[in-house]
Amino acid sequence: MAAPPFHVTDDFAWNLEHFVIPEHYAPDLASVMISHGLIQDRIDRLANDICKAYDFHGSGARLHMLCVLKGGHQFFSDLCNALKKLTLVGVKEPPLTFDFIRVKSYHNTESSGDITIETVGIDLPSLKGRNILLVEDIIDTGATMSKLVPYLQSYEPTSVRVATLLKKRTPKSNGFEADFTGFSIPDKFVVGYCLDYNEVYRDMEHICIMNESGIKRHAK
Ligand code: 5GP
Repeated sequence: MAAPPFHVTDDFAWNLEHFVIPEHYAPDLASVMISHGLIQDRIDRLANDICKAYDFHGSGARLHMLCVLKGGHQFFSDLCNALKKLTLVGVKEPPLTFDFIRVKSYHNTESSGDITIETVGIDLPSLKGRNILLVEDIIDTGATMSKLVPYLQSYEPTSVRVATLLKKRTPKSNGFEADFTGFSIPDKFVVGYCLDYNEVYRDMEHICIMNESGIKRHAK
């Protein structure tokens, strides 16, 4: 059974001056919500939970990890590294395989509700009979996952589960719950750790909140 998400309280904010923030981003940020170190610690625990759930060491289960691009890339990479370390010893079958899927739904800081799925390079019929773990950066309204999970299920995998780094507490939620969730966060737009604002901030280590200047500067 996966541990509950780490609950980031509504008013929680770390002062920027406690961290190394790139000079080109600092004037456009209000605060750090989740530091890079805390993200890594939480991912270690998620990897343990996933390892237990799939029983790699017992029944020899295999997991097909599906990265939801682009925002999920960093979480996917760090989660895979954590899982690889846990499956080095005592696992008889190669436990992990990977694929990438691209989904887009956001304009500026608002979900457009218009979700496009690109599966270039995935052999969709080969998903039949596999255990799929979708790896996503953030669940906001839940619209993306509510479309993606049934889409993948139509290819008859054995299972489709979802790991998300962040889950937003928002009244706009459609109730979708991931199987593995890193952090429950307040209803604010976050950037960093591969989460973008119009393609900016993906290369920042910490998960942060922008200030008005940042929102204006990079608006489209
Ligand atoms: P949903 O379909 O659950 O409303 O939104 C999921 C997608 O919206 C995520 O994969 C992500 O791309 C984007 N998204 C939602 N909230 C945020 C946010 O606070 N920051 C960023 N950068 N993207 C978000």
